Amino acid sequence: MSRVLVIGKIHPAGLEILHGRGDLTVISLEDPGAPMPLEEVARADAILIRYGVLSEEAVRSARNLRVVSRHGVGCDNLPVAALSALGIPVTIVGPVSAVSVAEQVIAMMLAASKRLGRYDAAVRGGNWSIRDSIGTFELYEKTLLLLGFGRIGREVAQRAAALGMRVLAHDPGVDPADMQTIGVESVGDWRARLAEVDVLSLHVPLDSSTRHIVDAAVLDRLKSTAMIINTARGGLVDEAALHRALTTRMIEGAAALDTFAQEPVDENHPLCRLPNVILSPHSAALTREASMRMGVVAARNVLAGLDGTLNPALIFNRRALESGGHRPESTL
Ligand code: NAD
Repeated sequence: MSRVLVIGKIHPAGLEILHGRGDLTVISLEDPGAPMPLEEVARADAILIRYGVLSEEAVRSARNLRVVSRHGVGCDNLPVAALSALGIPVTIVGPVSAVSVAEQVIAMMLAASKRLGRYDAAVRGGNWSIRDSIGTFELYEKTLLLLGFGRIGREVAQRAAALGMRVLAHDPGVDPADMQTIGVESVGDWRARLAEVDVLSLHVPLDSSTRHIVDAAVLDRLKSTAMIINTARGGLVDEAALHRALTTRMIEGAAALDTFAQEPVDENHPLCRLPNVILSPHSAALTREASMRMGVVAARNVLAGLDGTLNPALIFNRRALESGGHRPESTL
């Protein structure tokens, strides 16, 4: 019997797939606050991981491990280089949550531009005259800059274009012609274009090259009314610099954050106290539809990993495994 360790609550449809196979022992640990179950990791043949950080030491102790299946696409919580060196595939769920995340980006842009949260609280608090503050604006003909034009970035681009926005994108991994076919302008030196940008939305993976890609220098170049949207990873933004910007020069600007450097974010985090910040609990991909698809694909990846029938397009460290060593992964 192979042992499958499921770390985090996944959709019942995914668990059903695992339990449907008679030759597996499935250990499902649903408590998001629980420490990493190191003894179970050491005994696992396959790990399906939604929450928590898996250390290099933990995977080295797992002598029978044959596949790590990520319930998502970001693998910054996994020791990918160590897993690659051990020859263990790391799988992702592919494009199944891209539409949900893209819709969240559009929802955040609309909510921030129309100040929905603030106006809602004002009406409930008897402040009808907030309507005379004329603090809202249209997205029509505003400029959106996407950092990253992968699965999610391109879905955002199409929806923003439908709202009449001008869309720029920076992604060294994508052919500019691919962007042009859907009316997106490819931008090389994106920092040089920041003064034009009304909305900056992040869609790159978190790694050593992208950590704090939005720092004080970037914020300084943005319009004072600009909006920053981060549905990718908290570590991409220097949160202290963002707080400084939103409380000084960019007080008329806004941020919409689904992801944070530390999750769950502390309710007393300075950014959680600002009226010009919209927050969500890393829930952009957790629609009913995408949750089911993620659970199902992550479970199928476990079975395929054990059976040796993995879809190459869903192996995050495919190039590293092929070359016998670790190389940075970004576009799989
Ligand atoms: P993807 O791999 O399809 O696309 C990422 C793109 O970023 C690639 O095209 C790559 O070439 C590009 N890129 C890498 N480094 C770059 C850089 N320095 N500058 C510009 N472009 C760069 O990934 P995706 O599925 O679109 O996911 C994007 C991000 O969203 C990831 O960080 C992922 O973890 C995150 N995500 C968050 C949620 C959520 O619930 N909030 C859900 C899914 C994905």
